[in-house]
Amino acid sequence: MFTSINPYNQRKLKTYRVDSAAQLERKLARADHAFTDWSALPLSDRTQHLRNAGDYMLAHKQDLGDLITAEMGKTLKEAVSEVEKCAVACTFYADKAETFLADQVIESDAQRSLVSYQPLGPVLAIMPWNFPFWQAMRFAIPGLIAGNVGLLKHAGNVMGCAQAIETIFRESGLPDGVFQNLLIETDTVKDVLTDWRVKAVTLTGSEKAGASVAQIAGSQIKKSVLELGGSDALIVLADADLDKAAETAVKSRMQNAGQSCIAAKRFIVEKSVKKAFMERVLHHIEAIKQGDPTDDSTTMGPMARLDLAESILKQAHDTIAKGAKLLTDTIDADGCNVRPMLLDNVKPGMAAFDDETFGPLAVIITAKDETDAIRLANQSRYGLGSALWTQDIDKANRLARQIQAGSVFVNGLMRSDARVPFGGIKMSGFGRELSELGMKEFVNAKTIWIE
Ligand code: NDP
Repeated sequence: MFTSINPYNQRKLKTYRVDSAAQLERKLARADHAFTDWSALPLSDRTQHLRNAGDYMLAHKQDLGDLITAEMGKTLKEAVSEVEKCAVACTFYADKAETFLADQVIESDAQRSLVSYQPLGPVLAIMPWNFPFWQAMRFAIPGLIAGNVGLLKHAGNVMGCAQAIETIFRESGLPDGVFQNLLIETDTVKDVLTDWRVKAVTLTGSEKAGASVAQIAGSQIKKSVLELGGSDALIVLADADLDKAAETAVKSRMQNAGQSCIAAKRFIVEKSVKKAFMERVLHHIEAIKQGDPTDDSTTMGPMARLDLAESILKQAHDTIAKGAKLLTDTIDADGCNVRPMLLDNVKPGMAAFDDETFGPLAVIITAKDETDAIRLANQSRYGLGSALWTQDIDKANRLARQIQAGSVFVNGLMRSDARVPFGGIKMSGFGRELSELGMKEFVNAKTIWIE
């Protein structure tokens, strides 16, 4: 059984029965069968189905938002905008698919030579609970339009969302078997991924899960995309607009109760402006209103699970034990409701510097100058989505190239946007989601050469 628990009040919401071996086999057979017809449909038919899915989500955004909030605790406002973002991605890919997937004619000495982009088949998507719709949809929308079919293995605590995603596609008219939710535990992932009918896998989650899944995929010579954790830097140089930088830094770190792979997990600040930046950050953190995530005035809900809340508190305590200084009142939680924290004097060798912190913990690291700031930013085993604050755009252009990350956002909130590629380097994973690159991760770039 999977059990959904409301993290705000620990009330049990619903249980979901794990698929039996026979049910799983039927789903795999259905996916295999569905692929033949789905991939043969004209592209315009597939895009229309996905436009319908976007419309369905907009029409049901309130109910879907309620479900997200109930299962994983983000504020209802954040949950509804997550659903809206998925609908925007449906329109984006429906509008762009023809261009992204068009044959690429290549000049050669052949009569005609080109690259044609063809779908692979059923793709397994292993997804986390932090953005339970967006994480699954940002694979599914481009993947399905490209002609693949989807098999979702969602996190065990958001099975209601997982079922709802399957319903969205079914109600939008997608043929049976084009997108199915698998109610399976992690032990069963290996059986699915080694099944000949499953052609590839994408995973968003922890390093540990990513390493395990990539190992299985590698042993089967199957394509994998990994979007793993981050401990990204938000660098504030001496000439930055400190008001905007501090406001955005707190938003980046604290939204979704700090549970985002691209959250600004390390604020690296030039010494000369540290005090001024820190005061502003503290002001914004103190203004956070925690409480019932369904209440309009709440700006931070609970963390998604008790074990995750315990883990962030432990990381804060460990970091302080190594010499960091607590600037907020307390390190405390009521169940999953963790008080937002700010630590100063954080350095390499401390948990909050070395490891991913997945909760409302902001930390300040002091840099001697811009060279030192870049060095500290790159002193991480991760490299996902960094931010850089300076009013000197030429300098930003130069320094952005020196930061080891999949993205660098200058003077703005680091975020995922369907128009630009998203993904990491180092232990943050490989492959790209979103944009044209994301759509082309799960296609066969087939060369056709006609003499
Ligand atoms: P996990 O990586 O364990 O979970 C993410 C997804 O992977 C879930 O669907 C999970 O299933 C599945 N999974 C876990 N282990 C395996 C495995 N060995 N083989 C196949 N699938 C697996 O994350 P947690 O929820 O435990 O969170 C732990 C930490 O991971 C967080 O504190 C954070 O640091 C990081 N994380 C990063 C995310 C990101 O966006 N980059 C998202 C979520 C977590 P199930 O739920 O059934 O275990």
